[in-house]
Amino acid sequence: MGKGDFSKKIVDWYLVNPRDLPWRKTKDPYRIWLSEVILQQTRVAQGLPYYMEFVRNFPNVKALAAASEDNVMRTWQGLGYYSRARNLHACAKVITSKYNGKFPKTQTELLALPGIGEYTAAAIASIAFGQPEAVVDGNVFRVLSRVFGIEDDISTSAGKKAFTIKAKELLDIDQPGIFNQAVMEFGALHCTPKSPNCTDCIFSAGCFAKKRQMQNLLPVKSKKVKVRTRYFTYFIITKGNKLAMKKRNGKDIWAGLYDFYLIEGKRTQRVEKMMKEDKALIQMEPFINIEFKSESFKHILTHQHIIARFVMLSMSPGFPAKKLHDALGVKLFTAQEIAILPKPVLVSHFLTKKGILE
Ligand code: SF4
Repeated sequence: MGKGDFSKKIVDWYLVNPRDLPWRKTKDPYRIWLSEVILQQTRVAQGLPYYMEFVRNFPNVKALAAASEDNVMRTWQGLGYYSRARNLHACAKVITSKYNGKFPKTQTELLALPGIGEYTAAAIASIAFGQPEAVVDGNVFRVLSRVFGIEDDISTSAGKKAFTIKAKELLDIDQPGIFNQAVMEFGALHCTPKSPNCTDCIFSAGCFAKKRQMQNLLPVKSKKVKVRTRYFTYFIITKGNKLAMKKRNGKDIWAGLYDFYLIEGKRTQRVEKMMKEDKALIQMEPFINIEFKSESFKHILTHQHIIARFVMLSMSPGFPAKKLHDALGVKLFTAQEIAILPKPVLVSHFLTKKGILE
């Protein structure tokens, strides 16, 4: 199948089959960027309400740059992959300070911004600014591998490069934004991973995969995601009507969100033994009581399975909050304050289940 044939067919298909999505009705690079970042690793149905809330809370890039980190993380809460939210915020700050709130137009300048990789840069450059850049994502891998019989492994950089070259070769340079969206939409709606609609397909006559019944074998992906199991014991310290929470830092999951004093073990151990072996908690032993211990349960993330349990401890009223902060790095919050803090879904669910949050 020739380049022009593929491009015309897929664009014609797209023009009658696009989903009615808000970011399709705009050329505003801010909104296109927001949608692309939110929809990475996320289904449209899940991402749409987040997109709407971001646009409502932060209508432009300057508003996002001026927001507090807690507010941005709170708006992102529940979407996972929290580094995306931190990068979104950092990127908005750079666009505001360096470009006075106007997105740069070229792929090279876009790629220099925090959190913007090849895919997002190509999407913004082509959709918002009409630049001839080809987008390559999971949908594009699938459509091109099946239609053209590209058997390079998409989990390798050489494989990705082969697809990028093919996507560039096919790109309709008169309407690169429409072309890119057409291929992604065709992969999302028609040539789907498990049940491609081959019987009623614009490519059925020339499709490599259909001819050879290789739909399930393409694209080729060799690397399996390694899943790590982690054992979390959360200690929720209560003092009067307040709860001690801790902001997560560093490079681990959920950085920027609030959870509780945490001991991570190699497996689930007895709570009392754990408390006696922890240097910070042992200092507090005379002042705390165990009020409640939850069952262990599993929280599934893409690369990690968290086996979590919660232990509620009450602190003597006279124990100084500063000492608590110095020993455990926690701060005391009321339920109303906790309600607006950004938290991992695991923590929100527990607090709701215990009736601490609505
Ligand atoms: S014929 Fe099937 S495998 Fe080929 S492009 Fe169409 S839906 Fe995809």
